[in-house]
Amino acid sequence: MNNEILIFGSLAFDSVQTPFGKRKNILGGSATHAAISASYFTTPIIVSAVGEDFLDEHMQLLKKNKINIKNLERKKGKTFAWEARYGNNPNEREVLATYENVLKDYSPSLLPEHKKTKYVFLANNSPASQIMLLDQLESAEFVIWDTMTFWIDKYTDQILKILPRVDIALFNDFEAMHFSKETNLIKAGKKILSKGVKKGVVIKKGEHGSFLFTHSFTLHLPAYPLEEVKDPTGAGDSFAGGLIGFLAKTGKVDDNSLKKAMAYGTIMASLTVEEFGADRFKKLKKKDIYKRLRELKKLIKF
Ligand code: AMP
Repeated sequence: MNNEILIFGSLAFDSVQTPFGKRKNILGGSATHAAISASYFTTPIIVSAVGEDFLDEHMQLLKKNKINIKNLERKKGKTFAWEARYGNNPNEREVLATYENVLKDYSPSLLPEHKKTKYVFLANNSPASQIMLLDQLESAEFVIWDTMTFWIDKYTDQILKILPRVDIALFNDFEAMHFSKETNLIKAGKKILSKGVKKGVVIKKGEHGSFLFTHSFTLHLPAYPLEEVKDPTGAGDSFAGGLIGFLAKTGKVDDNSLKKAMAYGTIMASLTVEEFGADRFKKLKKKDIYKRLRELKKLIKF
């Protein structure tokens, strides 16, 4: 199959607290959320490492979603873990702890059969390991990339080396302003684009929607309006999974496809936040995605 997506990121145990409750050590991670979201479009291949505490039931969940886990290593030690708290504003989260565990000093090693994957998502992970992965790709056609404040603070130089090697760079509003040192999002998007990103910069604004800045056009989409956001964790990764999932499925990366892909990203993000962790996807059907997409279209047609 040549429309598979390579997803390099974290598999994690997340402990989250929101106004709707608390969950401890639930399955999370940037690669997990992105791969589950992308699995509604095509086959994701996860490249990552987990520890001895990663249970068989977690592996089964990935397999059930038809995610290829041949490039997932089990290492001595503990799985990456993360703790966060959200208040009444779902756009604001307080990260309480990040335990890199087995992902600290992890050097990804692509299986020969995965080196020629055309679509790639470099989800949240250390910039050094993202560069190692980029160096192993032999015929990537479309690479999207994400980061977090955790990495921006320490590794700005490496990030500046990554930007010219990716087609789309994803940031949330806070990260974009922090990285660009701009307080206006339009200026932030344009400034990051000028660092050499090949195609475009996406700035996600949680419940306020998202921007796409490219060298030829700008797109602004609202979020799908929800009355209840139970757990915002993974919204960004699910957005990315939907975006690249749609592009890989159609095999087209022209401007119009990119705009549609942004809408699919928007829908996948709106679904994931309706339940804790990846629970929403347990009962999600493809027709639910299309229904929501039609509703979003109606909302922005005038
Ligand atoms: P999001 O809400 O889309 O920004 O992503 C949240 C997910 O990213 C959680 O499931 C975390 O386990 C994972 N995560 C948090 N911090 C990091 C980090 N520094 N590196 C990799 N993954 C992370």
